[in-house]
Amino acid sequence: MNIKIDKLKEGDSSLFFSAEEITGLKSEDISILSSNELKLNIQKNGNYLHIHGSNSVEYGAVCDRCAADYTTGLIVNIDYFFHIGDMKTGNSNDIEIIYPDDNDGVLNFDDYYRESFFLAQPLRFLCSDNCRGLCQKCGADLNKTQCGCKDEEKVDPRWEKLTELIKKNQHGES
Ligand SMILES: [Zn+2]
Ligand SMILES: [Zn+2]
Repeated sequence: MNIKIDKLKEGDSSLFFSAEEITGLKSEDISILSSNELKLNIQKNGNYLHIHGSNSVEYGAVCDRCAADYTTGLIVNIDYFFHIGDMKTGNSNDIEIIYPDDNDGVLNFDDYYRESFFLAQPLRFLCSDNCRGLCQKCGADLNKTQCGCKDEEKVDPRWEKLTELIKKNQHGES
């Protein structure tokens, strides 16, 4: 996924990448199911480039609760500022500016796409909001079956003895 920066004209331009041309995730262990065209809007102002755009991606994920495979999607938002050419001016405090290596006028965008994809990931992967997960005791998938472990309440055996003692004492007093 390359951007020919030496061919860019001043001002606004757009680049389009089809699903097959978006190579940023190919090396990762992610099964991309579908992805729509990525449109990158590029604003060139002298040596500065602002590259932004978005596309939606559908991919295979594994539920954190029940370990089931499921399909999920997200929107990859891309927003980067670059400085190209030799003259490096002072860094702006407000904007993070990237100084890419000069690669014969070509900017490889794979790493930036990949980074944007991972930034969009959810904190937790859940096959559904009310996934019931796996039984802590027997490992049964509680979305599919009721294992019965729930019925016996987990009581600390030490508490059981204490409860018995308290009952006995109360009995003795009365
Ligand atoms: Zn689940
Ligand atoms: Zn169980």
